Amino acid sequence: MHEGDDSDSLLVRVSLNRRRALRWLVVPAVSPWWGTPALSWASVGRIASARIWPAQEYTRLILEAPAPIAHQLLTLKNPDRVVLDLDGIEITPELAQLPGRLQGSDPYISAIRFGQKSPGAVRLVIDLKMETKPQLFALKPVAEFGHRVVLDLYPVTPIDPLMALLEEMRATEPSTERDPAPASRIPARPDKSGRRRITIALDPGHGGEDPGAVGRRGTMEKNVVLAIARKLKGMIDAEPGMRAVLTRDDDYYVPLATRVQKARRVQADLFMSIHADAFSVPTARGSSVFALSEHGATSAAAKWLAQKENAADLIGGVNLGVRDPLLARTLLDLSQAAQINDSLKVGRNVLDGIGLVNPLHKAVVEQAGFAVLKAPDIPSILVETAFISNPEEELKLRSDRHQNKFAQSMHDGIRRYFANNPPLARTGTNTG
Ligand SMILES: [Zn+2]
Repeated sequence: MHEGDDSDSLLVRVSLNRRRALRWLVVPAVSPWWGTPALSWASVGRIASARIWPAQEYTRLILEAPAPIAHQLLTLKNPDRVVLDLDGIEITPELAQLPGRLQGSDPYISAIRFGQKSPGAVRLVIDLKMETKPQLFALKPVAEFGHRVVLDLYPVTPIDPLMALLEEMRATEPSTERDPAPASRIPARPDKSGRRRITIALDPGHGGEDPGAVGRRGTMEKNVVLAIARKLKGMIDAEPGMRAVLTRDDDYYVPLATRVQKARRVQADLFMSIHADAFSVPTARGSSVFALSEHGATSAAAKWLAQKENAADLIGGVNLGVRDPLLARTLLDLSQAAQINDSLKVGRNVLDGIGLVNPLHKAVVEQAGFAVLKAPDIPSILVETAFISNPEEELKLRSDRHQNKFAQSMHDGIRRYFANNPPLARTGTNTG
Protein backbone atom coordinates (compact mmCIF):
# COMPACT_ATOMS: atom_id res chain seq x y z
CA MET A 1 0.00 0.00 0.00
CA HIS A 2 1.09 3.55 -0.67
CA GLU A 3 0.45 4.51 2.90
CA GLY A 4 3.10 2.09 4.11
CA ASP A 5 5.65 2.84 1.42
CA ASP A 6 5.22 6.48 2.15
CA SER A 7 5.81 5.97 5.84
CA ASP A 8 8.98 4.01 5.19
CA SER A 9 10.66 6.75 3.23
CA LEU A 10 9.41 9.50 5.52
CA LEU A 11 10.46 8.10 8.82
CA VAL A 12 13.67 7.64 10.62
CA ARG A 13 13.94 3.90 10.97
CA VAL A 14 14.61 2.90 14.54
CA SER A 15 14.95 -0.66 15.68
CA LEU A 16 16.41 -2.28 18.75
CA ASN A 17 19.94 -2.45 17.42
CA ARG A 18 19.83 1.12 16.22
CA ARG A 19 19.28 2.92 19.48
CA ARG A 20 22.42 4.95 19.00
CA ALA A 21 21.19 6.08 15.62
CA LEU A 22 17.96 7.18 17.25
CA ARG A 23 19.68 9.57 19.60
CA TRP A 24 21.85 10.92 16.88
CA LEU A 25 19.17 11.27 14.23
CA VAL A 26 16.09 12.25 16.13
CA VAL A 27 17.16 14.26 19.11
CA PRO A 28 19.09 17.03 17.33
CA ALA A 29 16.32 17.40 14.77
CA VAL A 30 13.72 18.30 17.36
CA SER A 31 15.78 19.71 20.23
CA PRO A 32 15.27 23.41 19.44
CA TRP A 33 11.70 23.55 20.69
CA TRP A 34 11.85 21.48 23.86
CA GLY A 35 14.89 23.47 24.81
CA THR A 36 12.71 26.58 24.69
CA PRO A 37 10.66 26.78 27.87
CA ALA A 38 8.89 29.88 26.60
CA LEU A 39 6.89 27.79 24.16
CA SER A 40 3.37 27.31 25.44
CA TRP A 41 2.33 23.71 26.11
CA ALA A 42 -1.18 24.65 25.15
CA SER A 43 -0.26 25.50 21.58
CA VAL A 44 1.51 22.23 20.93
CA GLY A 45 0.81 18.85 22.49
CA ARG A 46 3.43 17.13 24.53
CA ILE A 47 3.80 13.42 25.16
CA ALA A 48 4.88 13.38 28.79
CA SER A 49 5.50 9.66 28.96
CA ALA A 50 5.50 6.64 26.67
CA ARG A 51 5.42 3.09 28.00
CA ILE A 52 5.20 -0.48 26.73
CA TRP A 53 3.80 -3.40 28.74
CA PRO A 54 4.64 -6.57 26.83
CA ALA A 55 2.89 -9.85 27.71
CA GLN A 56 1.86 -13.06 25.96
CA GLU A 57 -1.82 -12.19 26.37
CA TYR A 58 -1.38 -8.78 24.75
CA THR A 59 1.17 -6.00 24.46
CA ARG A 60 0.07 -2.57 25.57
CA LEU A 61 1.55 0.69 24.38
CA ILE A 62 0.68 3.87 26.29
CA LEU A 63 1.16 7.50 25.40
CA GLU A 64 0.43 9.96 28.16
CA ALA A 65 -0.07 13.70 27.81
CA PRO A 66 -1.38 16.64 29.87
CA ALA A 67 -4.13 17.22 27.25
CA PRO A 68 -6.16 14.80 25.09
CA ILE A 69 -4.21 13.47 22.11
CA ALA A 70 -5.95 13.39 18.73
CA HIS A 71 -5.14 9.99 17.30
CA GLN A 72 -5.91 7.72 14.38
CA LEU A 73 -5.02 4.12 13.68
CA LEU A 74 -4.16 2.39 10.43
CA THR A 75 -3.51 -1.32 10.04
CA LEU A 76 -1.18 -2.43 7.24
CA LYS A 77 -0.20 -5.83 5.90
CA ASN A 78 2.86 -7.27 4.10
CA PRO A 79 4.63 -6.75 6.38
CA ASP A 80 2.24 -6.50 9.33
CA ARG A 81 2.34 -3.14 11.06
CA VAL A 82 0.10 -0.58 12.68
CA VAL A 83 0.43 3.13 12.11
CA LEU A 84 -0.62 5.58 14.79
CA ASP A 85 -1.04 9.17 13.67
CA LEU A 86 -0.99 11.77 16.41
CA ASP A 87 -2.17 15.30 15.75
CA GLY A 88 -1.12 18.45 17.55
CA ILE A 89 1.95 16.68 18.88
CA GLU A 90 5.66 17.34 18.62
CA ILE A 91 8.41 14.82 19.25
CA THR A 92 9.54 15.06 22.85
CA PRO A 93 12.47 13.21 24.43
CA GLU A 94 9.87 11.07 26.24
CA LEU A 95 8.40 9.99 22.93
CA ALA A 96 11.88 9.57 21.43
CA GLN A 97 12.68 7.06 24.18
CA LEU A 98 9.83 4.75 23.21
CA PRO A 99 11.71 2.59 20.65
CA GLY A 100 14.47 2.06 23.20
CA ARG A 101 11.92 0.71 25.68
CA LEU A 102 10.97 -2.10 23.34
CA GLN A 103 12.17 -5.50 24.51
CA GLY A 104 13.47 -8.05 22.06
CA SER A 105 11.24 -10.60 23.82
CA ASP A 106 8.08 -8.59 23.11
CA PRO A 107 5.71 -11.19 21.63
CA TYR A 108 4.11 -8.83 19.13
CA ILE A 109 6.26 -5.75 18.34
CA SER A 110 9.52 -6.05 16.43
CA ALA A 111 10.35 -2.37 16.00
CA ILE A 112 8.94 1.11 16.54
CA ARG A 113 9.69 4.02 14.24
CA PHE A 114 8.40 7.53 14.28
CA GLY A 115 8.77 10.79 12.53
CA GLN A 116 7.36 14.29 12.22
CA LYS A 117 4.88 13.92 9.40
CA SER A 118 4.23 17.62 9.19
CA PRO A 119 4.46 20.41 11.78
CA GLY A 120 2.37 19.23 14.72
CA ALA A 121 1.74 15.78 13.30
CA VAL A 122 3.66 12.71 14.38
CA ARG A 123 3.45 9.28 12.82
CA LEU A 124 4.32 6.22 14.83
CA VAL A 125 4.91 3.01 12.88
CA ILE A 126 4.83 -0.20 14.88
CA ASP A 127 6.36 -3.16 13.06
CA LEU A 128 4.78 -6.42 14.13
CA LYS A 129 6.11 -9.93 14.54
CA MET A 130 2.72 -11.30 13.45
CA GLU A 131 -0.75 -10.16 12.51
CA THR A 132 -2.54 -8.71 15.56
CA LYS A 133 -5.95 -7.45 16.55
CA PRO A 134 -5.28 -3.88 17.68
CA GLN A 135 -7.54 -2.03 20.11
CA LEU A 136 -7.11 1.70 20.44
CA PHE A 137 -8.84 3.78 23.09
CA ALA A 138 -8.37 6.85 25.26
CA LEU A 139 -8.46 7.08 29.04
CA LYS A 140 -9.37 10.20 30.98
CA PRO A 141 -7.05 11.46 33.73
CA VAL A 142 -7.19 9.41 36.93
CA ALA A 143 -4.99 9.27 40.04
CA GLU A 144 -1.56 10.54 38.99
CA PHE A 145 -2.17 9.82 35.31
CA GLY A 146 -2.94 12.41 32.66
CA HIS A 147 -4.73 11.73 29.37
CA ARG A 148 -3.69 8.36 28.01
CA VAL A 149 -3.95 6.87 24.54
CA VAL A 150 -3.82 3.09 24.81
CA LEU A 151 -2.95 0.73 21.99
CA ASP A 152 -3.45 -2.93 22.85
CA LEU A 153 -2.11 -5.52 20.42
CA TYR A 154 -3.84 -8.86 20.82
CA PRO A 155 -3.05 -12.08 18.98
CA VAL A 156 -5.61 -12.86 16.26
CA THR A 157 -6.40 -16.11 18.08
CA PRO A 158 -6.71 -15.22 21.77
CA ILE A 159 -4.67 -17.25 24.22
CA ASP A 160 -7.18 -19.60 25.78
CA PRO A 161 -6.61 -20.29 29.50
CA LEU A 162 -8.12 -23.75 29.03
CA MET A 163 -5.66 -24.61 26.30
CA ALA A 164 -2.81 -23.17 28.35
CA LEU A 165 -3.90 -25.40 31.22
CA LEU A 166 -4.00 -28.39 28.91
CA GLU A 167 -0.47 -27.69 27.72
CA GLU A 168 0.68 -27.30 31.29
CA MET A 169 -0.87 -30.67 32.15
CA ARG A 170 0.85 -32.31 29.21
CA ALA A 171 4.16 -30.92 30.36
CA THR A 172 3.70 -32.11 33.95
CA GLU A 173 1.98 -35.43 33.22
CA PRO A 174 3.93 -37.12 30.44
CA SER A 175 2.39 -40.53 31.21
CA THR A 176 -1.23 -39.55 30.54
CA GLU A 177 -2.96 -40.11 27.23
CA ARG A 178 -1.82 -38.03 24.29
CA ASP A 179 -5.13 -37.59 22.51
CA PRO A 180 -6.59 -34.16 23.18
CA ALA A 181 -9.62 -34.41 25.44
CA PRO A 182 -12.54 -32.08 24.74
CA ALA A 183 -11.67 -28.74 26.29
CA SER A 184 -14.69 -28.73 28.59
CA ARG A 185 -13.61 -31.94 30.26
CA ILE A 186 -10.07 -30.90 31.05
CA PRO A 187 -10.35 -29.24 34.43
CA ALA A 188 -12.74 -31.83 35.83
CA ARG A 189 -10.75 -34.86 34.71
CA PRO A 190 -10.16 -37.22 37.63
CA ASP A 191 -6.62 -37.96 38.78
CA LYS A 192 -5.18 -41.47 39.21
CA SER A 193 -7.10 -42.11 42.43
CA GLY A 194 -10.34 -41.39 40.56
CA ARG A 195 -10.93 -38.16 42.43
CA ARG A 196 -11.66 -34.93 40.68
CA ARG A 197 -8.73 -32.51 40.45
CA ILE A 198 -9.20 -29.31 42.37
CA THR A 199 -8.39 -26.22 40.32
CA ILE A 200 -7.51 -23.00 42.09
CA ALA A 201 -7.39 -19.68 40.27
CA LEU A 202 -4.81 -17.41 41.86
CA ASP A 203 -5.21 -13.76 41.02
CA PRO A 204 -2.23 -11.50 41.68
CA GLY A 205 -3.82 -8.04 41.93
CA HIS A 206 -3.02 -5.04 39.71
CA GLY A 207 -0.15 -5.19 37.17
CA GLY A 208 1.19 -3.11 34.29
CA GLU A 209 -0.02 0.48 34.49
CA ASP A 210 -1.55 -0.21 37.88
CA PRO A 211 1.16 -0.66 40.53
CA GLY A 212 -1.42 -1.06 43.31
CA ALA A 213 -0.27 0.31 46.65
CA VAL A 214 3.31 1.52 46.92
CA GLY A 215 5.36 1.22 50.11
CA ARG A 216 7.74 3.80 51.54
CA ARG A 217 10.71 1.94 50.11
CA GLY A 218 9.06 1.97 46.71
CA THR A 219 7.85 -1.62 46.92
CA MET A 220 4.96 -2.11 44.52
CA GLU A 221 1.97 -4.22 45.44
CA LYS A 222 1.75 -5.64 41.88
CA ASN A 223 5.24 -7.15 42.19
CA VAL A 224 5.05 -8.66 45.67
CA VAL A 225 1.62 -10.21 45.11
CA LEU A 226 2.83 -11.81 41.88
CA ALA A 227 5.84 -13.24 43.73
CA ILE A 228 3.60 -14.65 46.48
CA ALA A 229 1.08 -16.04 43.96
CA ARG A 230 3.85 -17.82 42.03
CA LYS A 231 5.15 -19.41 45.23
CA LEU A 232 1.64 -20.47 46.22
CA LYS A 233 1.06 -21.92 42.76
CA GLY A 234 4.21 -24.02 43.16
CA MET A 235 2.94 -25.38 46.48
CA ILE A 236 -0.54 -26.14 45.14
CA ASP A 237 0.81 -27.83 42.00
CA ALA A 238 3.00 -30.05 44.18
CA GLU A 239 -0.12 -31.18 46.07
CA PRO A 240 -1.66 -34.40 44.68
CA GLY A 241 -5.10 -33.75 43.21
CA MET A 242 -4.68 -29.99 43.06
CA ARG A 243 -3.48 -27.48 40.53
CA ALA A 244 -3.31 -23.72 40.35
CA VAL A 245 -3.77 -21.32 37.45
CA LEU A 246 -2.58 -17.70 37.55
CA THR A 247 -4.80 -14.99 36.09
CA ARG A 248 -1.62 -13.11 35.23
CA ASP A 249 1.96 -14.34 35.29
CA ASP A 250 3.65 -11.16 34.16
CA ASP A 251 3.66 -7.41 34.69
CA TYR A 252 0.62 -6.36 32.67
CA TYR A 253 -2.90 -5.31 33.53
CA VAL A 254 -5.78 -7.79 33.42
CA PRO A 255 -9.25 -6.20 33.70
CA LEU A 256 -11.20 -7.33 36.77
CA ALA A 257 -13.97 -8.97 34.74
CA THR A 258 -11.36 -10.86 32.69
CA ARG A 259 -9.84 -12.26 35.88
CA VAL A 260 -13.26 -13.64 36.83
CA GLN A 261 -13.79 -14.93 33.31
CA LYS A 262 -10.46 -16.77 33.32
CA ALA A 263 -11.36 -18.53 36.56
CA ARG A 264 -14.72 -19.58 35.11
CA ARG A 265 -13.16 -20.87 31.90
CA VAL A 266 -10.90 -23.25 33.79
CA GLN A 267 -13.88 -24.18 36.03
CA ALA A 268 -11.96 -23.19 39.11
CA ASP A 269 -13.09 -24.54 42.48
CA LEU A 270 -11.70 -21.48 44.21
CA PHE A 271 -10.78 -17.96 43.14
CA MET A 272 -8.28 -16.19 45.33
CA SER A 273 -7.23 -12.62 44.66
CA ILE A 274 -3.97 -11.66 46.37
CA HIS A 275 -3.25 -8.09 47.44
CA ALA A 276 -1.28 -5.93 49.85
CA ASP A 277 -3.13 -3.26 51.78
CA ALA A 278 -2.27 0.39 52.27
CA PHE A 279 -3.47 3.15 54.55
CA SER A 280 -2.59 6.78 55.09
CA VAL A 281 -1.07 6.11 58.50
CA PRO A 282 1.98 3.82 58.62
CA THR A 283 0.83 2.16 61.86
CA ALA A 284 -2.04 0.29 60.16
CA ARG A 285 -1.01 -3.36 59.95
CA GLY A 286 -2.13 -6.96 59.72
CA SER A 287 -3.68 -9.39 57.28
CA SER A 288 -7.33 -9.52 56.29
CA VAL A 289 -9.59 -11.66 54.12
CA PHE A 290 -12.68 -10.51 52.24
CA ALA A 291 -15.66 -12.13 50.57
CA LEU A 292 -18.34 -10.61 48.36
CA SER A 293 -21.35 -8.88 49.81
CA GLU A 294 -24.60 -8.59 47.92
CA HIS A 295 -26.11 -6.05 50.24
CA GLY A 296 -23.68 -3.47 51.57
CA ALA A 297 -20.33 -3.85 53.28
CA THR A 298 -19.71 -5.23 56.75
CA SER A 299 -17.74 -2.11 57.70
CA ALA A 300 -16.90 1.33 56.36
CA ALA A 301 -13.29 0.21 55.95
CA ALA A 302 -14.33 -2.81 53.87
CA LYS A 303 -16.50 -0.59 51.69
CA TRP A 304 -13.64 1.88 51.19
CA LEU A 305 -11.25 -0.94 50.34
CA ALA A 306 -13.63 -2.47 47.79
CA GLN A 307 -14.01 0.94 46.12
CA LYS A 308 -10.25 1.32 46.03
CA GLU A 309 -9.68 -2.15 44.56
CA ASN A 310 -12.51 -1.74 42.06
CA ALA A 311 -10.85 1.46 40.81
CA ALA A 312 -8.01 -0.71 39.48
CA ASP A 313 -9.76 -0.90 36.10
CA LEU A 314 -9.63 2.90 35.80
CA ILE A 315 -5.93 3.00 36.59
CA GLY A 316 -4.90 -0.22 34.84
CA GLY A 317 -6.95 0.80 31.80
CA VAL A 318 -9.90 -1.08 30.35
CA ASN A 319 -11.37 -0.69 26.90
CA LEU A 320 -15.05 -0.27 27.74
CA GLY A 321 -15.96 -0.72 24.09
CA VAL A 322 -15.27 -4.46 24.19
CA ARG A 323 -16.81 -5.47 27.50
CA ASP A 324 -18.28 -8.93 27.31
CA PRO A 325 -22.04 -8.28 27.51
CA LEU A 326 -22.81 -11.92 28.32
CA LEU A 327 -20.44 -11.90 31.24
CA ALA A 328 -21.78 -8.58 32.49
CA ARG A 329 -25.31 -10.05 32.49
CA THR A 330 -24.25 -13.25 34.22
CA LEU A 331 -22.66 -11.22 36.97
CA LEU A 332 -25.75 -9.09 37.41
CA ASP A 333 -28.51 -11.66 37.26
CA LEU A 334 -27.52 -14.41 39.59
CA SER A 335 -27.99 -14.57 43.28
CA GLN A 336 -24.66 -15.17 44.87
CA ALA A 337 -25.83 -16.34 48.29
CA ALA A 338 -24.40 -19.87 47.89
CA GLN A 339 -21.11 -18.58 46.54
CA ILE A 340 -20.80 -16.13 49.43
CA ASN A 341 -21.56 -18.85 51.96
CA ASP A 342 -18.73 -21.02 50.58
CA SER A 343 -16.43 -18.00 50.29
CA LEU A 344 -16.90 -17.18 53.97
CA LYS A 345 -15.93 -20.76 54.87
CA VAL A 346 -12.79 -20.79 52.75
CA GLY A 347 -12.00 -17.27 53.93
CA ARG A 348 -12.19 -18.41 57.55
CA ASN A 349 -9.69 -21.20 56.83
CA VAL A 350 -7.28 -18.89 55.02
CA LEU A 351 -7.57 -16.29 57.78
CA ASP A 352 -6.71 -18.95 60.38
CA GLY A 353 -3.70 -19.98 58.32
CA ILE A 354 -2.37 -16.50 57.71
CA GLY A 355 -2.94 -15.54 61.35
CA LEU A 356 -0.12 -17.91 62.27
CA VAL A 357 2.46 -15.94 60.26
CA ASN A 358 1.21 -12.36 60.54
CA PRO A 359 -1.03 -10.43 62.97
CA LEU A 360 -4.63 -10.18 61.77
CA HIS A 361 -6.01 -6.76 60.90
CA LYS A 362 -9.54 -8.11 61.41
CA ALA A 363 -10.26 -11.46 63.03
CA VAL A 364 -13.35 -12.09 60.87
CA VAL A 365 -13.86 -12.42 57.13
CA GLU A 366 -15.26 -9.08 56.04
CA GLN A 367 -17.57 -8.50 53.11
CA ALA A 368 -17.98 -5.79 50.48
CA GLY A 369 -18.82 -5.39 46.79
CA PHE A 370 -15.47 -6.39 45.26
CA ALA A 371 -15.86 -6.65 41.47
CA VAL A 372 -13.24 -9.37 41.24
CA LEU A 373 -15.17 -11.66 43.61
CA LYS A 374 -18.34 -11.75 41.49
CA ALA A 375 -18.04 -15.16 39.82
CA PRO A 376 -21.53 -16.54 40.55
CA ASP A 377 -20.37 -20.16 40.79
CA ILE A 378 -16.89 -20.06 42.32
CA PRO A 379 -16.10 -19.45 45.99
CA SER A 380 -14.05 -16.26 45.80
CA ILE A 381 -11.94 -14.46 48.36
CA LEU A 382 -9.61 -11.50 48.38
CA VAL A 383 -6.62 -11.67 50.70
CA GLU A 384 -4.84 -8.54 51.86
CA THR A 385 -1.63 -10.26 52.90
CA ALA A 386 -0.21 -7.31 54.86
CA PHE A 387 0.04 -3.51 54.81
CA ILE A 388 2.66 -2.40 52.32
CA SER A 389 2.27 1.08 53.85
CA ASN A 390 3.55 -0.27 57.17
CA PRO A 391 7.38 -0.19 57.04
CA GLU A 392 7.74 -3.43 59.00
CA GLU A 393 5.19 -5.30 56.89
CA GLU A 394 6.66 -3.83 53.71
CA LEU A 395 9.92 -5.56 54.64
CA LYS A 396 8.03 -8.83 55.14
CA LEU A 397 6.31 -8.48 51.77
CA ARG A 398 9.67 -7.89 50.08
CA SER A 399 11.43 -10.78 51.75
CA ASP A 400 11.60 -14.07 49.93
CA ARG A 401 11.36 -15.96 53.22
CA HIS A 402 8.20 -14.13 54.30
CA GLN A 403 6.65 -14.41 50.87
CA ASN A 404 7.07 -18.16 51.30
CA LYS A 405 5.47 -17.96 54.74
CA PHE A 406 2.47 -16.07 53.39
CA ALA A 407 2.12 -18.57 50.55
CA GLN A 408 2.49 -21.55 52.89
CA SER A 409 -0.12 -20.20 55.31
CA MET A 410 -2.63 -19.62 52.51
CA HIS A 411 -1.86 -23.06 51.15
CA ASP A 412 -2.60 -24.59 54.57
CA GLY A 413 -5.90 -22.73 54.71
CA ILE A 414 -6.90 -23.89 51.23
CA ARG A 415 -6.01 -27.51 52.04
CA ARG A 416 -8.01 -27.43 55.24
CA TYR A 417 -11.02 -26.00 53.44
CA PHE A 418 -10.99 -28.65 50.72
CA ALA A 419 -10.40 -31.44 53.22
CA ASN A 420 -13.68 -30.47 54.92
CA ASN A 421 -15.54 -29.35 51.79
CA PRO A 422 -14.71 -31.67 48.88
CA PRO A 423 -15.50 -29.95 45.58
CA LEU A 424 -18.08 -32.54 44.52
CA ALA A 425 -20.20 -31.51 47.48
CA ARG A 426 -19.76 -27.88 46.56
CA THR A 427 -22.99 -25.94 46.38
CA GLY A 428 -23.05 -24.88 42.77
CA THR A 429 -25.22 -22.08 41.46
CA ASN A 430 -27.59 -23.26 38.80
CA THR A 431 -26.88 -21.05 35.83
CA GLY A 432 -29.89 -22.33 33.88
ZN1 LIG B 1 -4.75 -4.29 45.77
